[in-house]
Amino acid sequence: MDNRTQALIHFLDASHSVYHAAEYLADTLEKAGYTRLSEGAAWELMPGGKYYLVRGGTAVIAFRIPEGSPKGFLMSASHSDRPCFKVKENFESAGAYTKVLVERYGGMLIAPWLDRPLSIAGRVMVETEEGVESRLVDIDRDLLLIPNLAIHMNRSANDNQKWNPAVDTLPILGGKDAKGKLLPLLEQEAGGKILGHDLYLYIRQKASVWGIDEEYLSSAALDDLECAWSCTQGFLNAGDSENIPVLCVFDCEEVGSSSVQGAASDLLEGVLTRICGVLKLDIYQMLANSFMVSADNGHALHPNHPEMSDAANAPLPGGGVVLKFNASQRYCTDGVAAAIFRKVCAKADVQTQTYCNRADIPGGSTLGNISLHHVSVPTADIGLAQLAMHSCYETGAVSDAIALETAMAAFYGSTLTATDTGYTLK
Ligand code: ZN
Repeated sequence: MDNRTQALIHFLDASHSVYHAAEYLADTLEKAGYTRLSEGAAWELMPGGKYYLVRGGTAVIAFRIPEGSPKGFLMSASHSDRPCFKVKENFESAGAYTKVLVERYGGMLIAPWLDRPLSIAGRVMVETEEGVESRLVDIDRDLLLIPNLAIHMNRSANDNQKWNPAVDTLPILGGKDAKGKLLPLLEQEAGGKILGHDLYLYIRQKASVWGIDEEYLSSAALDDLECAWSCTQGFLNAGDSENIPVLCVFDCEEVGSSSVQGAASDLLEGVLTRICGVLKLDIYQMLANSFMVSADNGHALHPNHPEMSDAANAPLPGGGVVLKFNASQRYCTDGVAAAIFRKVCAKADVQTQTYCNRADIPGGSTLGNISLHHVSVPTADIGLAQLAMHSCYETGAVSDAIALETAMAAFYGSTLTATDTGYTLK
């Protein structure tokens, strides 16, 4: 297996929650020589310097300062969260079985969560002498399961199945004697008294490369950790640019991005404003020479349901990086952004394909048009073609992740300058 695929799989398998994904990315940046900045401290930025920050434990922004006078920002945005079940506050229900009370986070396919081993991971706030401290928790063993109702008790299970998330999707922790055992287990794992938590269920199945030519990759959270990883690798491996390369991985995309660490927050705008302030740059001049790649996975042509796709704009797994278009701006790629991104991909010898919804089917939305509210620059909505979006186990192609790494390295290594009629791209 290619080293780049191995590295992606390692990241996917280590990212049992949005917190673990962000910590892995922060570690990766740290190992690559990036200096961690605190939003609560003054920033000293040096030419040639490499920096990153984390907000809320789940959003990561990294950037580097070129040696010369910077010309603008080259940015990408992906997301660290996934649809899944979140553990509620009073989280145990008693009865013949002890169940864990959960609610849905994001727009998920429910059926794939049933009849498979699950566990719990996330962040807890632990009481300390001085205050409270954030700690990551991962109960790294098969702990829970949501059982289906037998076909004999639900004869219509294979037709029009409906799921009630208050009834049908509560996982079993154990029998009635299990009552009261989960909190001590979490506190033992965290090493202290828990005063607050953000804990999620995750599937225990690891990522898999499969298919007759081992061309497919399946994993939890392929949307959007595949793009987050590929953009990070492209960012780290890029050559020098006269622009400031900026890597963004936001949280809360699956619930509308409105949070302290989501794409609708002031996070990116604040970082760019601070960079311009410290380096004494005119932010509006910088933004006029800037470009955003919003990277979030898109729908591949379904093998059994090709009729659900627009016949002329239906990407395939393995077909290269997908440019996404929508007249209502749910995807904000326009002619300018498409041309710039295609030019970058051609330079890197990376194939592109296109995605449009069928005109009679409303599609999804993503980060691009949300971050535009604060940072209004030409934006290409792109992604990698995948099947079973928002299942707990999603499928894409091995070669596409490598294609995106290559394309993003070319993007971040370019120098983009606005002209009166277009852009130059060196
Ligand atoms: Zn996504």
